Amino acid sequence: MRILLIEDDPDLADVVALGLRNESYAVDQAATYAHAEELLRTTTYDVACFDLGLPDGDGLELIRRLARDLELRRPRRSLVLTARDAVADRVAGLDAGADDYLVKPFHFAELVARVRALSRRGESHGSTLRVGALTLDLAAHQAWRDGSELRLTAREFSLLRYFMHHPGDVLSAEDLLEHVWDEHANPFTASVRVILSRLRKKLGEPALIVTVTNVGYQLKERP
Ligand code: CA
Repeated sequence: MRILLIEDDPDLADVVALGLRNESYAVDQAATYAHAEELLRTTTYDVACFDLGLPDGDGLELIRRLARDLELRRPRRSLVLTARDAVADRVAGLDAGADDYLVKPFHFAELVARVRALSRRGESHGSTLRVGALTLDLAAHQAWRDGSELRLTAREFSLLRYFMHHPGDVLSAEDLLEHVWDEHANPFTASVRVILSRLRKKLGEPALIVTVTNVGYQLKERP
């Protein structure tokens, strides 16, 4: 899952980004409207968190633009983070297209729980994700195949979680790079192949993630 965090308070932004990275999300940060706009031109985020009061613009206006400006890529889910707690502002945020709303000051754990809930909305119940023989506990960061625990690094967990959100879909190395790695990542898709081959080894036999020649990779529900 790749998250965009738009927040101009540097201390708050760093604490939130660190916490999300510790949950093995890929996180890009923007402290201005202009930088957020630039990132939204090139990346489709799984979840975007919008601060409304930005030094060079209004986050609410940016959310509204996502609905009509074809140059911008609309994030799959949007969350508004703001000190404005008036009912009118909350309604305006949701009307503009946001999926959820969190009023500052918020507890970091609540933000992580909301991001987790948004990223899996419509896909499963509770914090457990199941595809075939695989089970992921999204909150505890544990993974199992047929009941045997898999010892995964944060990046491997994040990669497997992305596959499990798209079972049966053929995902290209570029898709994986865009959704599992953030903008500080090695830009070469070779790093995707290295982590993927480690993950496949840990998943064991018979193979659950298969290569679709010249297209990408696919998680099978049954080997
Ligand atoms: Ca602000």
